[in-house]
Amino acid sequence: MKYAIFGDIHANLEALEAVMLDAAANDCTDFVCIGDIVGYNANPAECLNLVRDLGCPVVKGNHDEEASQDTPLEGLNPLAKHALEWTRKSLSEEDRSWLAGLKLVRQVRDFTIVHATLDTPGNWGYVTNKFDAMASFSYQFTPVCFYGHTHTPRIYVKGDSVEAIEEQETRINLGKKYFINVGSTGQPRDGDWRAAYTIYDVENQFVQIRRLEYDIATTQQKIIDAGLPEMLANRLAVGK
Ligand code: ZN
Repeated sequence: MKYAIFGDIHANLEALEAVMLDAAANDCTDFVCIGDIVGYNANPAECLNLVRDLGCPVVKGNHDEEASQDTPLEGLNPLAKHALEWTRKSLSEEDRSWLAGLKLVRQVRDFTIVHATLDTPGNWGYVTNKFDAMASFSYQFTPVCFYGHTHTPRIYVKGDSVEAIEEQETRINLGKKYFINVGSTGQPRDGDWRAAYTIYDVENQFVQIRRLEYDIATTQQKIIDAGLPEMLANRLAVGK
């Protein structure tokens, strides 16, 4: 049994389709989404429908939450704000209430999923170093938890101490805990423009973060055509 675990899609349909093809080619049988289906890019409804049709476990991201509400958009950077206003208008009421109903944390089989952090999942803090990871590990009751939000793939391991490992893959050792950022499908920010997602091979207890090229020119053109900020198209090419 292999899970394809993906998130931070941010309405990038071409990147999401590339992930679906690669997951099928690698014999993934199950899907899990760690949130932020919408926001930033130009295909929120299409990405939401694709994920909803998978019928897979999904947790809510901060952009999903903002897109599902009518409250004024505060505390966001101008690019995110502009895109979220546009996204709210692009989604149906049915889509928005589906997003509103998503949970913040879920357990799937023997692992946990969350968008941002396990210690305060609704505060949308960022796990960017081992100290942030330690706070989440305190609330992690399964050997493995998958998360997103920073758009940077990373594997934190807790043995006697907490460390981030360099590799983009690891075998799960019993007795240790793993807090794994699956990377961003639709807007990577680690300097690599390629779409990211993670395969969890349950039988072999093996986790691998994968990177995929996709039709970025089409995604960028859609952003321009939608009247969204050009900066959102430009950043995709540099992975920032
Ligand atoms: Zn995100």
